[in-house]
Amino acid sequence: MTMAAIDQANMTLDDALAAAEARYVEANPASAAAFREAQAVMPGGNTRSVLHFSPFPLGIREGEGAWLTDADGHRLLDFVGEFSAGLYGHSEPRIRRAIDEALDHGTVLGGPNRYEAAFARAICDRFPAIERVRFCNSGTEANLYALSAARAFTGRDDVMVLSGAYHGGTFTFSGPNPLNVPFPWHEIALNDIEGAREAIRRLGDRLAAVIVEPMMGAGGCFPASPGFLTALREETERTGVMLVFDEVMTSRMAPGSVHGLFGIRPDLVTLGKYVGGGMTFGAFGGRADLMARFDPSTPDYWGHAGTFNNSVVTMAAGLAGLTEVLTPAALEALNARGERLRDGMRRAIDDLDLPMQVNGMGSMTAFHFATRAAERPEDLPAVSPGLRALIHLELIARGLYTARRGLVALSLPVTDADIDRFLAGFHAVLEENTTIIRRHLDVPA
Ligand code: PLP
Repeated sequence: MTMAAIDQANMTLDDALAAAEARYVEANPASAAAFREAQAVMPGGNTRSVLHFSPFPLGIREGEGAWLTDADGHRLLDFVGEFSAGLYGHSEPRIRRAIDEALDHGTVLGGPNRYEAAFARAICDRFPAIERVRFCNSGTEANLYALSAARAFTGRDDVMVLSGAYHGGTFTFSGPNPLNVPFPWHEIALNDIEGAREAIRRLGDRLAAVIVEPMMGAGGCFPASPGFLTALREETERTGVMLVFDEVMTSRMAPGSVHGLFGIRPDLVTLGKYVGGGMTFGAFGGRADLMARFDPSTPDYWGHAGTFNNSVVTMAAGLAGLTEVLTPAALEALNARGERLRDGMRRAIDDLDLPMQVNGMGSMTAFHFATRAAERPEDLPAVSPGLRALIHLELIARGLYTARRGLVALSLPVTDADIDRFLAGFHAVLEENTTIIRRHLDVPA
């Protein structure tokens, strides 16, 4: 038995977490101070819930390539990847050049600028179901417009969503959310083809839209099967329901996004995150006949305002990203790294015989604690948040920045050597906590 194994045999999860937190507090005084200051003016010192974690989040001073420097000067490899929005890394030179050039010609111009139609063209050329597109400022806003448009277009009220789905802060279905947009919601289970067919038929002409993420990103990187997505298309077509693919995260999975990869044509698609080149961004688009209702030169058009919808900085950065940086070859190489990452993580879990599983697609991965294979978020056993916290803080201590929920999102500047470094750290952290993990999941040690 190694010393680490002897130590952990006697340690509870609470002890191990307390020790990890004490080391974290000791190592990060500047982050702690920044957090205390922020608490005086923002609730919980926070303006974006997902970035909070206990005992306090790392303040991030700067980023370069795939690396971050925190407030205390530690360098970390960034595997949060800004929850998929950081696809281009922190300092892509072609995007930087495009932003500089845009700034040289002034911002807040108050009219159509020279980037927006070119950017719209790049999006329509790339994503097959997007015949016409409109820009907004976030994925949440894109989903709000897509679903509102579906309701107006069909004259129906109800919306169907996957249990455990996340489509924005006001579209959260992993538990009760008093801030959700008050549409009449109906939930179906991921990959339950018969259940979905039955529910869509039963709701019939009350249903305006089904919104689905081709891989449930925030839900834990659970991919939807092509058969499930095809069944949704068939059933919605039959009943006149708008099928909305939320590809805010998944559009990075293939050059034509997941709907292009699987050859499925939703009525509407929403985009966000990396598509804006790292700037504030959202977009919704799809069928030309539906999108035509937003044409302001037609009578009874649907208004779609938004002061920053065509922000020159976003338009320029997004255009450079899609047309100069994110080539099919670049995406393929990134996705291959994602596969290698998942293979390596699964090998570590097998090697240590741990009750865990690794999910994902392309360059996005999530690890979970589970004694039986979980096919959807609802199948996962309830585990103490302390277990996730322990693994998260231990990875940070090794210079590996992941999301607390176990998301690992790659960016283009991540190298094979960076993947190896992650895998070595992941294995070491799991090995040091094998007994605690097994005991917590009631697996014999
Ligand atoms: N849809 C999905 C699938 C997302 O993952 C997110 C954000 O994580 C959103 C929508 C909301 O996007 P935003 O944070 O830009 O509002």
